[in-house]
Parts: sequence; C-alpha cells; structure tokens
Amino acid sequence: MLNLTYPLIDDEFKRFCAGKRGILLVEEGQPDFIEQNVNTILRRADLQTRVHGKDVLPMAGEYTGGVVLKGVARFIDIYAPTLLQGRDLPAAARPAASGLAVLNGNPKAFAIQAASSEVQPRPPSFCTGCPERPIFTAMKLLERELGQHHVSCDIGCHLFSVLPPFNIGATTMGYGLGWAGASAFNTPETSKRTIAMMGDGGFWHNGLTSGVGNAVFNQTDNVLLVVDNGYSAATGGQDVLSSKAINPIRSTNNPIEKAVCGVGVKWAKTVTNTYSLAQMRDTLREALTTKEKGPKVIIAQSECMLNRQRRVKPQIPQDDCRRRTCGARALWH
Ligand code: SF4
Repeated sequence: MLNLTYPLIDDEFKRFCAGKRGILLVEEGQPDFIEQNVNTILRRADLQTRVHGKDVLPMAGEYTGGVVLKGVARFIDIYAPTLLQGRDLPAAARPAASGLAVLNGNPKAFAIQAASSEVQPRPPSFCTGCPERPIFTAMKLLERELGQHHVSCDIGCHLFSVLPPFNIGATTMGYGLGWAGASAFNTPETSKRTIAMMGDGGFWHNGLTSGVGNAVFNQTDNVLLVVDNGYSAATGGQDVLSSKAINPIRSTNNPIEKAVCGVGVKWAKTVTNTYSLAQMRDTLREALTTKEKGPKVIIAQSECMLNRQRRVKPQIPQDDCRRRTCGARALWH
C-alpha cells in the first residue's frame, strides 16, 4: 500500500483494510507511532481489522531479515496456518516434516529451504558500471606488486569491497571513521602503510575532522582514499558539499582536495576518472611507496552510475533507443 509515514492518508488505510481480518505493520523503533495512528484511523472508521505489529515483532532492535521473517511467520500462523504447514505451497517448496514444527524450530532454515529451489544466490555488490569497481580492481592489481595492506573501511557503497570478488577490507568502525579506525597503525612498528577508505558522504559527515584532522595532528604516515562519486550515494543520492550539481539552496562544488589541504595535508592528489585503471593503480602505488612522510590523501572521482542514470535518462527522448539503426547501445542501457 502506498502511503506516508506522516501524516498518514486515512482514506487509503480505510480502503486497504476494508474486508481484511488483519494487517501486519512492520515499524522499526519505539514508540510505535504509526501503529497507534493506524489503530486510531480504523477505530474511528469502525473497521474491525486487527492491526499487528509489536505483538509479533520485537519492540526494539534492528529489524533484520531473520527478525522480520519470525514476525511474518507469527502473523501467518494467526490467519493462515496451513501455509506454514506447507499444504498451500508448491510441492518443491514444502518442508519435509511438518512445516510449523520446522518453522518454529528454525525459521531461517525453512525460508532457505522454501526459496532455494526458486532463487539463485547472489551476494550484494556494486551496481553495474559503478565507478568504484575500478578503484578496487586497481588495489587488487597493486597487491600483486606490494602485497596486502591493512585496509580500514568505512560505511557506504565502497563497503561492498569486503565481499567477493574483491575481499578487500579488514575493519569497519563507522560512518566517516575509516581513517580514524586506522589510527592505531600509525606506528613505525608496521612495515607497510595502511589504506583507509571513505566516501564523500562520510568525509563530510565527520571524516574531515575525525580522520583527516586527526591524521594531520598526529602526523600519520598512512594513506586515505576518498571515493568522490558526487552524491551521498548509498543513502539515495543526496547532495553533499563536493557534489557537482548546481543546487539553488545549498553550497555545492567545494572540492575535497581543497578541504584536506586546508587542514594541513601536503600530499593530496585527485584522480578525475576512476575508470582509468592505470592512473588509479599508479597513484595508489605512489602514495604507498613515496619517501615523503606525513598523511597522504587520494581523491578518486567519478560520478555514481546509478545517479548518473537518473540524471541523464530524463534528458533523452524515450524512444531514442528504438530509433537507433546503427546498433550502438545508449549510455543508459
Ligand atoms: S549507488 Fe552508485 S556508488 Fe553505490 S554501488 Fe551503485 S553506482 Fe556505485
């Protein structure tokens, strides 16, 4: 059902709930503002639909896939228990033993069993064409020459690098904390420089102070790689200070390199095209091997491909692809 978190659209709730015995509301956090609001809407409309939420889901804590699965199972158990016993499922998805017994014992196992015949496993990863892929490819290429380095990760799309096929990244502390998380490695006892990762969102969130300022103050000899894709991409593509977009109500186009130099970094380089593997690799190699002491910052720039598609696609006539006779593929395919 389409609606808003606030204010709720009463008529849509009434239309949706009419004739239904119960609905399940998945509302993370406490207090249960939306659940209370929905109950009020339904009681005022004299609809007897029961609202389930915090009675089958936990009051607090993160609603992970496993947590929601248990809640949905409890909800189904109230209104359609035969589904849990597998009687209404396709033969391939039925559990071997009593469905409810298996579900109560291990809901995850039941879900996996039911879905495995239909779904191919696919680990989460970067979008197709993501400009961050070549950054990590360059790091893997460099590993062949210099060996592995400790990589202190951050929060953001680039964290997909900890998964296959890259398997890069040893630690993650929090949003904007990539370089702060590598502080303990600022010691002559380690033979290799560490690499810290940070997105432009994390950088402006607090990385400039907690990471870069701290590294300048403590004269770290390590490397920070800032992924400057022009957006707070992982949270939906909001503008940040260094975004290239012209924003009438915000100040954008403030370069990250200027900011890091402003707090005292002497070695800072901007790569303006992450898809240039050779340039990415060579810049990283230089940062990791230069005799120059002190903090080193690489800003790796290329526009987030997902947001680029959103930006470019509306500018192209919709039937343009169909009119093409040359066989060339358009950018947004
Ligand atoms: S949202 Fe953008 S930056 Fe994130 S994975 Fe997709 S293309 Fe890459």
